[in-house]
Amino acid sequence: MSDPVPEETAAELHRAQQDLQRLAIMEPLTRLLHRQAFDERVQQALADASARSRPCALVIIGLDGFRLLNEVYGQRVGDRILQGVAARLRNFVREPNLLGRRGGDEFAALLTDTSDADAAMHATREMLAGIQCLERVGNLEIQVDASAGVVLFPADGGDIDSLVEAGDAALARAKREGGQRCARFSPDLGRAKDLRIRLEQRLRRACEARDFRLFYQPQVSLPDRRLVGAEALVRWNDAELGDISPAEFIPIAEASGLIDGLSDWVLREVCRQRQMWRQVGLDLPPVAINLSGVQLRSPGCVRSVLETIDEFQISPEELEVEITETWFLDSSSPLAQENLHRLKMAGVRSALDDFGVGSSSLAQLRDLPIHRLKIDRSFTVECMRNARTLTIVKAVIDMAHNLGLTVTAEGIETADQEAWMHHLGCDSAQGFYIARPMPAEDFLRRHLAERARPAAPRPVGDAGPGGHSVQ
Ligand code: C2E
Ligand code: MG
Ligand code: MG
Repeated sequence: MSDPVPEETAAELHRAQQDLQRLAIMEPLTRLLHRQAFDERVQQALADASARSRPCALVIIGLDGFRLLNEVYGQRVGDRILQGVAARLRNFVREPNLLGRRGGDEFAALLTDTSDADAAMHATREMLAGIQCLERVGNLEIQVDASAGVVLFPADGGDIDSLVEAGDAALARAKREGGQRCARFSPDLGRAKDLRIRLEQRLRRACEARDFRLFYQPQVSLPDRRLVGAEALVRWNDAELGDISPAEFIPIAEASGLIDGLSDWVLREVCRQRQMWRQVGLDLPPVAINLSGVQLRSPGCVRSVLETIDEFQISPEELEVEITETWFLDSSSPLAQENLHRLKMAGVRSALDDFGVGSSSLAQLRDLPIHRLKIDRSFTVECMRNARTLTIVKAVIDMAHNLGLTVTAEGIETADQEAWMHHLGCDSAQGFYIARPMPAEDFLRRHLAERARPAAPRPVGDAGPGGHSVQ
């Protein structure tokens, strides 16, 4: 018979065994349950809940903009953020509830002590508020926000796989709706997800086949309506799905990594077109392309723009880039700012698009290397209805002018709007009332017709928008 193990050693062995068991089910970075362990425990918990006829809720949590954050700041910073989130989540999800990391920036919690959907949503909102913080990593301060999808067992799914799938669909909705929120699963989400997958597949094909067209929407000076530029807008007509708006497919392209190829096509197409116009002796005003925020934050962005304009022998002043205000300012990305500076140094001008939609303060404008502000259509429309908005828009325009920026009013749909925006001091305008986006041939025709016309009478009255009162 072997000697009995001393009590202390037995206790140590037991502890070591327990540690080993814990390690085997833990994900090393966050020390939460890893995917397989989490799923197994959820299955057991679901069987238990089913036997007792008790509902429970699965919450899938994702960090807003984590992919980009990882790209921009690097994986080490990303890891620190995930660790911080895991630590904060632990305070909210206590036994018998389960908490795990299912991979990437996806965390999951099974709430077994929840009574119904309202209670689950309430608990999830508290979790999200607990995750949200300004995380310090080295000398960086990074805003961490999260969204969540909430699904109920057994109402939304009978096993872990269907619950996770439904939770992912709800999470995707929460993110689509702007992030920092939770969404409850509903059956229509399943259908929306199918459509989105189909759209992505078709878009991938279109990108491979370069199956897009480029339309040009004129921008004219106020009040004399001289053509001062154009915005290039991509168009996609899918054989099965029909015309799809860029507002719908650009976010898909951004999320699926297709945006690089698509934007590259747009830039090359604009450059090719300008080269052709130049070869036949035409000197058209600059063309603006929309640069996705995803791209502006990528390190190779400026190089690829400059190499392309060089390849087509286009001068930098012939091009302008538009960056959406929400994208640019919500993301205090140093790389995006640096890229804009580099574009400016190279002679490519930039415009802040859709100004007024985001929450940027006027003071932030001072530091941006932009030369033009495009006032969003919603502002254009609203300032005719609301005296307060009118005052704001006027202040924005004055301030932009003081900063040396030119101001373009977007989305002009009526003569009144054009007159008001002129009255408020906008330098130029763009909108359906002036011209809709059109194919390159029509744009050229318009330009040639304008050139042939003797000095045009001013369509916008000198007297300003007299007679129209704003409430
Ligand atoms: P955006 O850059 O603000 O472009 C202006 C959008 O407003 C265009 O919609 C244009 O057709 C529309 N628009 C112009 N005038 C009027 C008007 O008077 N009334 C109304 N209701 N709308 C007007 P579109 O072409 O559907 O593009 C939507 C958005 O998709 C663009 O907004 C831009 O953010 C994005 N986008 C379009 N083309 C590209 C592209 O080549 N690359 C990237 N990254 N984004 C693009
Ligand atoms: Mg634009
Ligand atoms: Mg715009």
